Amino acid sequence: MSDLQFFGHIIDNEEVESLGGERFDAWNPWTREVWAQAADGMAADADRAVASARRAFDEGPWPRLGRVERGKAIHRLADLMEARADDLAWMDSTNMAKPFEQAKHDVARSVWNFRFFADHQRDHCGETFPMDSGHHTYSEFGPAGVVAAISPWNFPLMMASWKIAPAIAWGNTCIIKPSEDTPASVTLLGRLAAEAGFPPGVLNVLNGHGAPAGSSLTGDDRVDRVTFTGSSTTGKLVMASAATHLAPVSLELGGKGANIIFEDADLENAVYWAVEAIFRNAGQICLAGSRLFIHRSIADEFMRRFVAAAEALTIGDPFDPSTRFSSLASKRHFDKVASYVESARALGGTVLTGGVADDGTWVVRPTIVTDLALDAAPYCEEIFGPVCVVNVFDTEAEVVHLANDTRYGLNAMLFTENLSRAHRVASALRAGTVWVNCFFIRDLRTPFGGVGDSGVGREGGNFSREFFTEPKAVVMQIDRKG
Ligand code: NDP
Repeated sequence: MSDLQFFGHIIDNEEVESLGGERFDAWNPWTREVWAQAADGMAADADRAVASARRAFDEGPWPRLGRVERGKAIHRLADLMEARADDLAWMDSTNMAKPFEQAKHDVARSVWNFRFFADHQRDHCGETFPMDSGHHTYSEFGPAGVVAAISPWNFPLMMASWKIAPAIAWGNTCIIKPSEDTPASVTLLGRLAAEAGFPPGVLNVLNGHGAPAGSSLTGDDRVDRVTFTGSSTTGKLVMASAATHLAPVSLELGGKGANIIFEDADLENAVYWAVEAIFRNAGQICLAGSRLFIHRSIADEFMRRFVAAAEALTIGDPFDPSTRFSSLASKRHFDKVASYVESARALGGTVLTGGVADDGTWVVRPTIVTDLALDAAPYCEEIFGPVCVVNVFDTEAEVVHLANDTRYGLNAMLFTENLSRAHRVASALRAGTVWVNCFFIRDLRTPFGGVGDSGVGREGGNFSREFFTEPKAVVMQIDRKG
């Protein structure tokens, strides 16, 4: 038996192997070594996890616990996450080479996601409307049932927490399948839920691959909601699978975010955020500002500063405190991003800085490309890596058209000191989120999601409530007239 760390499935609060004993390796992409193993879920394991969540929903205390007690249990989980914050962050850094400081930031955000939804479900549990007819009507938000959540590897704990927190807060039970690339932190979360006293089956963790583990969950007719974050291609498969039993889906998919720098932008601020938007997490962010549009009159100055800032990022071991940028999350993903850099060159693009590290690591350095045609694949397709394609523009109308000329529509950024233009352009951009003079700031009360190939539905605040519950109207006669 191997002496590597092992991450099993968490089913009914027990950590278990797959029924057939299948396991897969978890890699550390910085050292390029296997550091752990995880249970590899098959259809029979998914069946077991769904049966447990179903039982916990139909017969267990969780949906009937009451809002206050449920909120307290979720805050207990958040307390335990805080106590184990370094372990959770260590796992994500080890599993996908995220700089440790950034991983700690993600853990703090994950804790907050649980606390927010623990309170939100208590404070936003219904509305009452007096009617002129002598009735009043009120809405009730009862839990939907069993939620299947499938999360990606780029923010392993945080993306999972965005799904699990509202799902369980609203009284559902949940099965989370983390990406096969990053099984560790979500499994620890499952262990902590048991420690926090969650009833068995409220939070099950199913490790394994997209198929059969993920696809067995989405296609199971005992599942009432499916929430997925990942690629647009897989999102379509997930939606088709959920449609076989009419389970509503929430899909947060890919992006090709436009980042627009107007001539009156505060350049220092714009350069800072342009770097964050495409090089944070080595560009492995669905919200990345991967298409940069700069007004012609400031293009030279902006590019000089942007290239210098990209080259100043310290590349290295995610656990070195000076590291701002590390390797990509897996060999498979490194190969994909590297092939886009190659194709950018082959298609006539000019690589101003960056490229594949060429030292045997899975690093693609912060890469900035100009001179690409608007139909070139690296310009149009989601690369999901540290590759920024740059264009100049002359007019506001032109740049709005360029920004919207994509099948994606997750987010956009714009930098200007002109208040009217900020509002006008924000309104004209076809995107689920628009950041003005900033990036990546999120308030959980607002809608989050994408347009077009970037997704279906919105989550956050009451948008999550609408998805994770079965809203009901009750109409009651108050004034018995004639
Ligand atoms: P996928 O969309 O394939 O995977 C995302 C999640 O879905 C993983 O947990 C995966 O499991 C699971 N999955 C895969 N196939 C199925 C299926 N048929 N049914 C149910 N679940 C399934 O993304 P990849 O990890 O392969 O990354 C590929 C590309 O996707 C990236 O290069 C990027 O462009 C985009 N992406 C976008 C993300 C975003 O935040 N919007 C996040 C991650 C990727 P497993 O990992 O085991 O295959």
